[in-house]
Amino acid sequence: MTQDETDGRVTVRCGFCGTLNAVDVARAKDRPTCGDCGKPMLLDRPLKVSDEDFERTVLGASVPVLVDFYADWCGPCRLVAPLMDEIAHEHVGKMLVVKVDTDRAPGVSGRYGIRSIPTLILFEGGQESERSVGFEPERLRSLAARAVA
Ligand SMILES: [Zn+2]
Repeated sequence: MTQDETDGRVTVRCGFCGTLNAVDVARAKDRPTCGDCGKPMLLDRPLKVSDEDFERTVLGASVPVLVDFYADWCGPCRLVAPLMDEIAHEHVGKMLVVKVDTDRAPGVSGRYGIRSIPTLILFEGGQESERSVGFEPERLRSLAARAVA
């Protein structure tokens, strides 16, 4: 495969039927649909990722992926959530924004040493490139902007 053919390729789970789909995020605005159920693959908002999907969706992505490690009971995480929505919307087609519920994904949370939440990690080419702990809105905006530059 040439570089062009792998550009923007990500594997994400359909939010409606749960089937894994290979999608080119660069074409997110063309409203890609699930190959199985035909419903839209919504890439302009954070996608939920579990232990099971982390490898394929986050580490296997050919675009930067910003991962929000959170929990439902965490107050500051609720401050981060709308910012993640905003970043996903703003950078649609250039990066992926995903959410990992640390209570439901102990494997990945352990692997990346998540000790306090919210923890936000930017992955590029399957590697952690930057990490932000707590609610740091300016830092998150600037690291997202740098990642897609
Ligand atoms: Zn589907």
